[in-house]
Amino acid sequence: MRSHAKVVVIGGGVVGASVLYHLTKAGWKDVLLIERAELTSGSTWHAAGGMHTVNGDPNVAKLQQYTIELYKEIERISGQSCGVHITGGIMLAGTRERLDWLKMAKARGRYLGMDLEIISVDEAAKLFPLMDKRHFAGAMYDPIEGHVDPYGVTHAYAKSAQIGGADIVRHTLVTDLKARADGSWDVITDHGNVHAEHVVNAGGLWAREVGRMVGIELPILAMEHQYLITGDMPELVGKKEQLHAIDFEGEIYIRQERGGMLMGTYERAGVPWSEVTTPWDFGQDLLPNDLERIAPSLEVGFAHFPALAGAGIKKVVNGPFTFAPDGNPLVGPIGGLKNFWVACGVMAGFSQGGGVGLALSRWMVDGDPGADIWGMDVARYGDWTTLAYTNAKVRENYSRRFSIRFPNEELPAARPLRTTPIYEKLQAEHAVFGDYCGLEHPLWFAPSAREAEDLISFRRSNAHPHVAAECKAVQNSVGLLEISNYGKFDVRGPRTEDWLSHMMANRVPAVGRIALTPMLNERGKLIGDFTMCRVAADHVFLVGTYAAETYYMRWFERHMPASGVAVRPCAMEYVGLSVAGPHSRALLQTLVRDDLSTAAFPFMSFRRMEIGMVPGYVGRVSFTGDLGFEIWVTADYQRALYDLLVKTGREYGLELFGGRALNAMRIEKSFGSWAREYRPIYGPFEAGLDRFVDFKKDEFIGRSAAAEEKDGGGALRLVTFKVDATDADAIGDEPIWHDGKTVGWVTSGAFGHRVNHSLALGYVPAALAKADAGFEIEIIGERHKAHRLTGAAFDTSGKRMRD
Ligand SMILES: Cc1cc2nc3c(=O)[nH]c(=O)nc-3n(C[C@H](O)[C@H](O)[C@H](O)COP(=O)(O)OP(=O)(O)OC[C@H]3O[C@@H](n4cnc5c(N)ncnc54)[C@H](O)[C@@H]3O)c2cc1C
Repeated sequence: MRSHAKVVVIGGGVVGASVLYHLTKAGWKDVLLIERAELTSGSTWHAAGGMHTVNGDPNVAKLQQYTIELYKEIERISGQSCGVHITGGIMLAGTRERLDWLKMAKARGRYLGMDLEIISVDEAAKLFPLMDKRHFAGAMYDPIEGHVDPYGVTHAYAKSAQIGGADIVRHTLVTDLKARADGSWDVITDHGNVHAEHVVNAGGLWAREVGRMVGIELPILAMEHQYLITGDMPELVGKKEQLHAIDFEGEIYIRQERGGMLMGTYERAGVPWSEVTTPWDFGQDLLPNDLERIAPSLEVGFAHFPALAGAGIKKVVNGPFTFAPDGNPLVGPIGGLKNFWVACGVMAGFSQGGGVGLALSRWMVDGDPGADIWGMDVARYGDWTTLAYTNAKVRENYSRRFSIRFPNEELPAARPLRTTPIYEKLQAEHAVFGDYCGLEHPLWFAPSAREAEDLISFRRSNAHPHVAAECKAVQNSVGLLEISNYGKFDVRGPRTEDWLSHMMANRVPAVGRIALTPMLNERGKLIGDFTMCRVAADHVFLVGTYAAETYYMRWFERHMPASGVAVRPCAMEYVGLSVAGPHSRALLQTLVRDDLSTAAFPFMSFRRMEIGMVPGYVGRVSFTGDLGFEIWVTADYQRALYDLLVKTGREYGLELFGGRALNAMRIEKSFGSWAREYRPIYGPFEAGLDRFVDFKKDEFIGRSAAAEEKDGGGALRLVTFKVDATDADAIGDEPIWHDGKTVGWVTSGAFGHRVNHSLALGYVPAALAKADAGFEIEIIGERHKAHRLTGAAFDTSGKRMRD
């Protein structure tokens, strides 16, 4: 084996082979894949090979489309067949809710250019005669679905990579990884060592173990998965190959396999495999069958597709494959480690492997994944993903693979895990909590314990009137919101200002002031939005999205000078409460000695204060669009602060409010939020953040690209719409129509209780951003008239928060 390579890819499953191919395609030829046995010796070899384009995250869906289109290319280069069968597929709905869900999926697919179609039961039965119509309410047809040969695909990638210059070494086990001071790696194997500039962990079933070699615990777990193949069926003789079908109610997928049918299931009582350590001697092995466990699904399957019942079972496959807690891959560099990359947790290798390889290779070669891959970025997880947390969440995800996730549905596994000191106090006020990074945070407050439950729905839920009351309290008197679920960073040192000025697009505020700022990558795209609070000349308290903490830290580390500034994430050290509404100042003024008048403490001021006996940072800032203050205290003071605000607040009409009301109010103000309006596919001008980009500064990351965007105007615009919706509001990812054509997509939506109207934020082409009429937004399959607003729906001038 050679002793040096620019990149060592560990793992010759479909994912490692795809990464290898994409690296050569991107121009890196000095690349080596090390596989401990033969290629496909993990989960790849026994996969059912099914592939499809539909995914809950539209950006992941795009990469799935790419993967499927790639097979022709690697077949052509390698001469190796991928065994592609594009049969088309149908997703069968047994209930009205499922049909609504399919309509939403179809609508999402529309702006991605996917050709999905909602069809009647009769039409479905024509396409897929094996189904018993009585069990279904409708279906969605997708022409681009089918299956491939897992062996063929992996070898086609591998051969294409070799033709492109890559090396592949088999029967060699990577046993350890040792970092050198310059960021390169010694890859230790049982057949000698390789010195590599970069290492990619594509270890599949063993990715956890490879992660442990460098001291990280990746949040992945393998689950046992079973499918069976029936005996030959006379019903299939002389017919065109059957479609792929998903029967959600039976939690079953089926497709033709030669003369019989292949039927697999994601059963409710899924069983994890190798919960702590994956054995190295597991190879092209199968696990013992357990038909008993999947019997309930089989029973439904045989009822829904009666011909299968009589066909007999020819073969059963039970094999393990890995999942991350949300079921999407883990891709990207690991913060704190130089030149160490992961491409693992890929549960749908034949739909996603190509996209994963493309994104990772671009990231390694160009420094940027080239697409919005937040949905599969390994940095979306932080240190709350312990082994047991991952275990609980992966089991939940597996069991819900074919379940509907309602927009207001909070999942129960691994909860409550992280709580703030006032958790029980909020619970006593009938808070309905949501889970955010494993942290409980109040979504809304019910009038009684009995009513403290969200009834899941695609339409306005039972929470609607209570959220309305919370918004009204903020509008008319004062509301109290827990804001602990934000990311916070303590930035200190003599070079704080210089460094932040280089990292952020806006200027660093003066001491005692706050500035909002986008953070851009070199391509001038949005990779963050922050509130910079200047505590002292050499100290800034930075507030941003908590879910992106690891993502931000990775970026900060990459751009950290050798000395003069240090960044420390402190999200859980500083918890917070916010008071908002016209009476918020009068309330807070009774508790602090500082003058809170606009003259003395104007909008966007920030200061250390004592609130009663509680020391904290107070910022005059507002995400509700009303007069408001955010108070950050260390966790030991939060209960005292809460009690004080609640007790004093009584005479000011204080009411508690939660995340749902906040979301509705920020949409009324056209305020965007991370992973919705702000993502790495948008520039600051497109997102309406131009006033926070300071071109008077000589230099900051993304400056020249942002200047180009400013000159060119950008392709898209974020627009606020008032929607003539009836009983369901937009939530995000709905298509925006104009004059009968899909022209854009919704990023967020809600009912605006202070303006008494349904609202949506979304992107449309810049050329259409000034169109006055002709817009529609499709919500659960129905198009509703949408009126473009020229400013925020609530308090357009911003007087309420400033005065
Ligand atoms: C029963 C079943 C049905 C499935 N059906 C489908 C389907 O229909 N469609 C679909 O898209 N997906 C399906 N999958 C999932 C699919 O198999 C996975 O998404 C895919 O195999 C993941 O590939 P991978 O390369 O990440 O991992 P793996 O296939 O596990 O590959 C990892 C490789 O790394 C090697 N390796 C690990 N550690 C080391 C080391 N230290 N040194 C050297 N080599 C190492 C291993 O030997 C192995 O070959 C199914 C899986 C199962 C089990």
